[in-house]
Amino acid sequence: MAQRLTGADGVSKKTSRVRVAVRLRPYMSRQDEKEEGPCVRGLDSQNLEIINWRNATETVKYHFDVFHGEQTTQQEVFLSSVKPILPHILNGQNASVFAYGPTGAGKTHTMLGTGEQPGVIPRAVREVFNLVSAKDEDEGWDYSIGMSYLEIYNEKVLDLLSPNSQDLPIRENKDKNILIPGLTYTVFSSFSDFDKHFIPATLNRTTASTKLNQRSSRSHAILLIKVVRTQRALPHRQQTGKLYLVDLAGSEDNRRTGNQGIRLKESGAINLSLFTLSKVVDALNSGTAARIPYRDSKLTRLLQDSLGGSAHSVMITNIAPEYRYYFDTFSALNFAAKSKLIVNKPFTRETVLLIFPPAPVKRSREEHEAGGSG
Ligand code: ADP
Ligand code: MG
Repeated sequence: MAQRLTGADGVSKKTSRVRVAVRLRPYMSRQDEKEEGPCVRGLDSQNLEIINWRNATETVKYHFDVFHGEQTTQQEVFLSSVKPILPHILNGQNASVFAYGPTGAGKTHTMLGTGEQPGVIPRAVREVFNLVSAKDEDEGWDYSIGMSYLEIYNEKVLDLLSPNSQDLPIRENKDKNILIPGLTYTVFSSFSDFDKHFIPATLNRTTASTKLNQRSSRSHAILLIKVVRTQRALPHRQQTGKLYLVDLAGSEDNRRTGNQGIRLKESGAINLSLFTLSKVVDALNSGTAARIPYRDSKLTRLLQDSLGGSAHSVMITNIAPEYRYYFDTFSALNFAAKSKLIVNKPFTRETVLLIFPPAPVKRSREEHEAGGSG
């Protein structure tokens, strides 16, 4: 994951690429009033294709570090994209996992999940506890695990563990660690202890979101899990590892939906953070930018010490297969991909039927007129 790069000044610096996974959620017929079927599909564990809107006889193919198809379980997403980075936070290193994509494509499902299908957050917290309890006493470190939970809304930093909090400042200390003075930090001793703090805060956010017109799709929800380890013997060395688990604001282009006034201002702010994130990820992955523009938005400023550098980062881009998401899917894929390939290969119904479960109502007119052979 880490690569050595030589900057313009000829000095070699260690940077870490952001691993990019794409997750396609299952097709939902209630999201597809015109019954057009899916417009995007997986090819294998790293590739997918989408119909080319300029020419429907072509598809555009994308390649990613990982492609998670619609059948992928929460457990599989966790095992392949998140679990491998967790050991690092017990050694004082930082990591971040974020879910990107349009509203309705599965970001919250991926990060939070449900009681029956828990997502990345509960699985990661459990795993961090497992890793800590599996540590050998003889290594001589004591571990403590804690959390902060915040939201960036309209470029304001709000504490989700402390209702009615005001916009909090983001600071950097002399060791280049990013901190937020005044942000609630809660130490917890077990998974159920974590849940006791996390669930009410999440519910608060959800309730507020229905009242405030889908605020949750316009804000970035950021859970910070910190592992602090202290050496039992003198000189009691201490190391802190941070893990950011981020459910990003929807990546849809709000200009198209005709938002006015306050909504437009919100959209602009969201675009600023997401736009800056895309520039940061781009600069990190291309390795050519002399300066990474972390300071240009609150989100990237906050993630500065946990995205790039020696940190371990994974971006899960969530996409939906229905046509109504088409342009947002395209722009999410272009954000996530460094390379794409236009292939002259029609996205035919026949091929779709081989991959998706046959749905008689979606057969083409020709088939009906021919009496339907299958
Ligand atoms: P977002 O947070 O990106 O707006 P959600 O996570 O709320 O999207 O997902 C939208 C809807 O799709 C929800 O009803 C969710 O339960 C469902 N969904 C998303 N991803 C999956 C999946 N992989 N499997 C089953 N249902 C999913
Ligand atoms: Mg959501």
